[in-house]
Amino acid sequence: AAEPVVRAAQHADVAALLPRPSAESDKYRRGVVGVAAGSARYPGAAVLAVAGALRGGAGAVRYAGPAADAVIARFPETLVSSGPPSQAGRVQAWVVGPGLGDGDEARESVREALASDVPVLVDADGLRLMDAGQLRGRTAPVLLTPHAGEAAALLGVGREEVESARLASARELARRYGAAVLLKGSTTVVAPPGGDGPLRVNPTGTGWLATAGSGDVLSGLAGSLLACGLAPVDAAVAGSYVHGLAGRRAAPLTSALDVAEALRPAWRDVSEA
Ligand code: AMP
Ligand code: MG
Repeated sequence: AAEPVVRAAQHADVAALLPRPSAESDKYRRGVVGVAAGSARYPGAAVLAVAGALRGGAGAVRYAGPAADAVIARFPETLVSSGPPSQAGRVQAWVVGPGLGDGDEARESVREALASDVPVLVDADGLRLMDAGQLRGRTAPVLLTPHAGEAAALLGVGREEVESARLASARELARRYGAAVLLKGSTTVVAPPGGDGPLRVNPTGTGWLATAGSGDVLSGLAGSLLACGLAPVDAAVAGSYVHGLAGRRAAPLTSALDVAEALRPAWRDVSEA
């Protein structure tokens, strides 16, 4: 039979996608994820993205940016540098955007991450700061992770228009940018690179995830999965699935850091089922 146009992510599919270390693993071979996020104004976004990245299967997390002190204070296991991504050392994927603000440094972080030869997840402020030319020049994949407001800005339409046509909007964004798209919200939709092929919807979400910073945690998590070698659609599907379960585990009165901390039991729910 022909593939359905929309499919809900299945527990067993996600279980098969989650990376696990082998006897031969070392921290570098497991994958290193780079996080370029945060600013003097929004250091918390960097901390939350790193919190997600530390719980996404990569063997190490590198942080590059102005919130290095805040990151290291909370997560001493992070490899931090206060310079731009190009000076941070080798990674297998970049997460760029959460809390970057819009200064010159922020713009430069986006430009450098997209100039790299590894997969890049672009979220939040990164979505405003990137330009189509930077995406066109790449050979490695890109995953865009907007909420409805960010998707509307990229598409040049009103937010209600995205909300009332979430599936079509995700597909159109993927088509326009030649990237995979994770459109977040009450129904989270994943579109394949270029928009060609079946869409996925995530069944695990909860309204308790509608809390400041929870999207930053998802960026780190999905970026970590990219660094482990998952294709962008798989990283988006598995990331939003586990993130949703973590939201349920952390509920009620969930804070973003609670979601990050619940990623471990949520991951276990999937991988041991
Ligand atoms: P952000 O808007 O970037 O902070 O991301 C918010 C996160 O919460 C995303 O993972 C959304 O999918 C999730 N989220 C927000 N509102 C809801 C909702 N009503 N139901 C389920 N998930 C939601
Ligand atoms: Mg966000």
